[in-house]
Order: sequence, then C-alpha cells, then structure tokens
Amino acid sequence: MFIFDAHLDLAMNALEWNRDLRLSVSEIRKREQGMTDKPDRGKNTVSLPAMREGNIGLCMGTQIARFVEKGSPLPGWHSQHQAWAQTQGQLAWYKTMEAAGEMVQIKDIAGLENHLELWKSDEPKKPIGYILSLEGADSIVDMSYLEKSYESGLRAIGPAHYGPGIYAHGTDSVGGIGQKGKDLLKKVEELNIILDATHLCDKSFWETMKVYHGPVWASHNNCRKLVDHNRQFSDEQITELINRDAVIGVALDAWMMVPNWVRGISTPKDMNVTLEIAIDNIDHICQLAGNTDHVGIGTDLDGAFGKEQTPWDLDTIADLQKIPNMLTKRGYTRSDIEKIMNQNFINFLRKVWT
Ligand SMILES: [Zn+2]
Repeated sequence: MFIFDAHLDLAMNALEWNRDLRLSVSEIRKREQGMTDKPDRGKNTVSLPAMREGNIGLCMGTQIARFVEKGSPLPGWHSQHQAWAQTQGQLAWYKTMEAAGEMVQIKDIAGLENHLELWKSDEPKKPIGYILSLEGADSIVDMSYLEKSYESGLRAIGPAHYGPGIYAHGTDSVGGIGQKGKDLLKKVEELNIILDATHLCDKSFWETMKVYHGPVWASHNNCRKLVDHNRQFSDEQITELINRDAVIGVALDAWMMVPNWVRGISTPKDMNVTLEIAIDNIDHICQLAGNTDHVGIGTDLDGAFGKEQTPWDLDTIADLQKIPNMLTKRGYTRSDIEKIMNQNFINFLRKVWT
C-alpha cells in the first residue's frame, strides 16, 4: 500500500549526520561503525532505497534550524541569519537529490497528481516525492524570508520546535506567541501555507487557534491520554484540530509512545515498544473523531534517534508496511486503512491547493 510520511528530517540527516541517503540503510550503518559523536550512530532506519522498498513515495521533508539565546541549554545557531543559511543548505541538498533523479519536489496539485500516477506505474527507480516543510520558524528573519521560502516550495510550517522560539513557545517551554507570532500566522494564512501545530506548547497552541483561520494539521504528534507529557496533545487539543478538519500524523519516537521512557537507558525491548502502540494512538484519534478521516502517519524516523528509540519490530522505514495488517486485525476496513496510510494527508493537500 502506498504510504505518505508526514515528517522526515531527510536533509538534516544528509548534512548534519553526514548520511548519503542514496545508500541502503545497512550501508549507512556500516559506514558509521565505531562513531560515537551521536547516540544513534549505526542505528539509522531511513534511506531513499528503503523508502522505495516500503512504497513510501511521498513525504514531508523538513528544513530545520533553531536560534538560541546566549545561555540556552539547547543546541542551535547564534543568529536567525545563520539559521536561515542552514535551511538554505538543506534546500540545496534536496535540489541536488532532484538533479540526481532521486527525489522530486511537490508543491502544487498538478505535481501531486502526476507523482501519484507515476507511483502506480512499474517504473524501476521512482523518485521520492517531498513537500518542503519548516520545523520551527526561527530561520525566518522577517516576513520577506517567508515569501522567499514559499517561492522555494515551502508548503507547511511549524512555528516552534523545542524550547522558546522567535515566533512561539515549543515543547518543554511555557509561553505565548506574542506579536511576532501573530504577524507570522497572518503571513502563513495569506500565503496559504499549512500551519503545523506540532511542538506548540499548550499556551502557544491555544493562542494560535484564536488568531489563525487557515489550514492546520499536526505532522507528527501522539496522544497525551497515552503518554502524559506536554509534547503530546490533550484530547481537547485533538478535538480542536479535528473540528478544524486537521490530519494528525502518528509518530514513532519511543519516548512519545510509552510512559516513563528514560533516554539512553530504556530500550524498546525492555519497554515493549512495538508498532501496536502506534495503532493505539491511531485508534484513540479515530475514537475522538468518530471516524477515520483525521489521522495519518508522521514517523519522524531518524529525527535525531534511531533503532535504540523506535519500535523494536521496525528495522527500517520499509517496515511501515506492517501497519496495514495490524489495522485489519483491529477491525479497520481496507478503505479506512487507505485513508490512514495515505489518503487523509493527500486529500488535505488537494483541498488546500485547489
Ligand atoms: Zn519534531
């Protein structure tokens, strides 16, 4: 079954983890043997061949670069200008993959429909479609940069990531969106860019909902009902998103799947983290909605974590193909499963771009 993954940090992996994503997952793992600079070395799960193997032909591909104030414990750039330059390097990587025939940027309805048709064909090496999104908006120096980004294909934006940002407060921080956040949202709405509510802290989330009226989704977000932490959405937040016709992508980061995960100590086996827990999150969102129209997949695989922090029954991203059977076992129909694996996000894009 064709799969849409609503959140992959592909360019970050290429440029900050120095991974050649044209290689197989196992070749990348081999190359990283003995490296200790990052906790997920040799444990990657994503590559372009693995995406082809798993029929994951379309994804949201991120740009990501944080600005940090002096004294911040978070990693990040010391000016918004440097953060912008980092995102432009990431864009250059996507463009190079396009030139190599490995990927193709999707930014409008014609491109989307052509790409979906291509993936129905037997073409041997199909390009992976990516829609450009920005995770955390710190790199937008002023609104003219958002216009430039739109011209470069940016079609979704999350105002915040971890910690306090220029335009909103993110995960593990508390605060509102301020005038800068409101100005950003106005421009996002004007450009018809999709707002990604993921990572907004509760206060910033509700302030955003008050002033923003454009298309909104949550690319990679699990349920607070199942893991009680501010990174996950409460039932009230999920219901608000459903009422706005959003789609919520379920993520495969182990600490967001089971309570009491301790980074670097807990293991997926010990904590029994399996893809079934992703199904629990999918099911919870469907129960709140009363239908299967508002949930999809936004794995975040290789989002600064690898096999040490993903469901143990997933070796590479190609194993997402296990999910349809699991949904069947829980009583979901074939058409429900198509919606969850690809149609909900694709139909959302059709609506926004038509
Ligand atoms: Zn994220």
